[in-house]
Amino acid sequence: MDRIKLATVWLAGCSGCHMSFLDLDEFLVDIADKVELVYSPFMDAKEYPKDVDVVLVEGGIGYDEQIHFIEKIRQNSKIVVSFGDCAMNGNVPAMRNPLGNPEVVFKTSYFDNANVNQQIPKDEALPVLLDRVSPIHELIKVDYFLPGCPPPASRIKIVVSKLLAGEAPILEGDDLKNG
Ligand code: SF4
Repeated sequence: MDRIKLATVWLAGCSGCHMSFLDLDEFLVDIADKVELVYSPFMDAKEYPKDVDVVLVEGGIGYDEQIHFIEKIRQNSKIVVSFGDCAMNGNVPAMRNPLGNPEVVFKTSYFDNANVNQQIPKDEALPVLLDRVSPIHELIKVDYFLPGCPPPASRIKIVVSKLLAGEAPILEGDDLKNG
């Protein structure tokens, strides 16, 4: 039987959702022969591959390159899961949204709240921040939502188990307590 090609992606988030994924502990061993991890912060893959079966996307869309990346993820993936509250509603990174223009954020961070060496870093290699952080479903079609900040490992396990079984992951009742 072909293994499920699984990817995980880290966009505008803190990586806490990925840390919660690691909390799956021995379940990761249980699914190791059913899953091929093809792209993830847990591995050294440079290019998002084609023909991904399932991708868990952590974080919202906060800078320009992430717009193109999330579109590529959608094109190359059968099932996209919005993984955690930052992907679902912007959450913590979106706290800058009421300030609007990112220049205001830079000024607050690097001038107003800095005691020494006040200066805004300028580097063409840095990505261009968007005026607001968006949940991923504002840019692409999302197949399933996995809420929580971070989603507890028990909830991730329910969703991943269902997807590996070819079933729709329905979260309800106690599945949604905590996290
Ligand atoms: Fe971090 Fe919470 Fe956002 Fe996950 S949902 S990336 S844990 S802030």
